[in-house]
Amino acid sequence: MHTLVLDQGYQPHRIISWQRAVCMIFDGKVEVVEEYDEDIRSVTICIKMPAVVRLLRNIVGRKRAIKFSRINVAMRDDFKCQYCGVRHRLRGLTYDHVVPKSQGGKTNWENIVMACYGCNEKKSNRAPHQAGLRLRRPPVKPKWLPIVAFHVDPASSIPEAWANWVYWHGRLESDP
Ligand SMILES: [Zn+2]
Repeated sequence: MHTLVLDQGYQPHRIISWQRAVCMIFDGKVEVVEEYDEDIRSVTICIKMPAVVRLLRNIVGRKRAIKFSRINVAMRDDFKCQYCGVRHRLRGLTYDHVVPKSQGGKTNWENIVMACYGCNEKKSNRAPHQAGLRLRRPPVKPKWLPIVAFHVDPASSIPEAWANWVYWHGRLESDP
């Protein structure tokens, strides 16, 4: 069981063990936002296992750059093909250069979107309008992403209690 830590602004910050979360609660570093149904019992205490906690103090100087990676682009794009809008697992999606490399398109946040293999093939080495395709939304560099390292199936990896807090416009998934 893990606990999701939110920063002061209720953005996902990191994931820690529930034991560590309990220590932070008792140290007054975090407040409980959501609980699991499970009780934690010891001789002296009985509390609900913390599912989501929020840091009470601001994190200074710890802004992380968002890595430009397949998984992060997929999360930004909500695991949806940006042309047909169909959601896929990560393995059902591929990187697509909006402006093809052959036309000078760069490999960066502003020019890469996730596409299903069908749309990617249809688009081929063309710009979207040349292939009769239209982008669902313009690709931009996201301001933040949840930092996670899960090695489980994405669809089942998010505890129910986290749902309100981790859906940015993507689900959490492991970096393959
Ligand atoms: Zn598609």
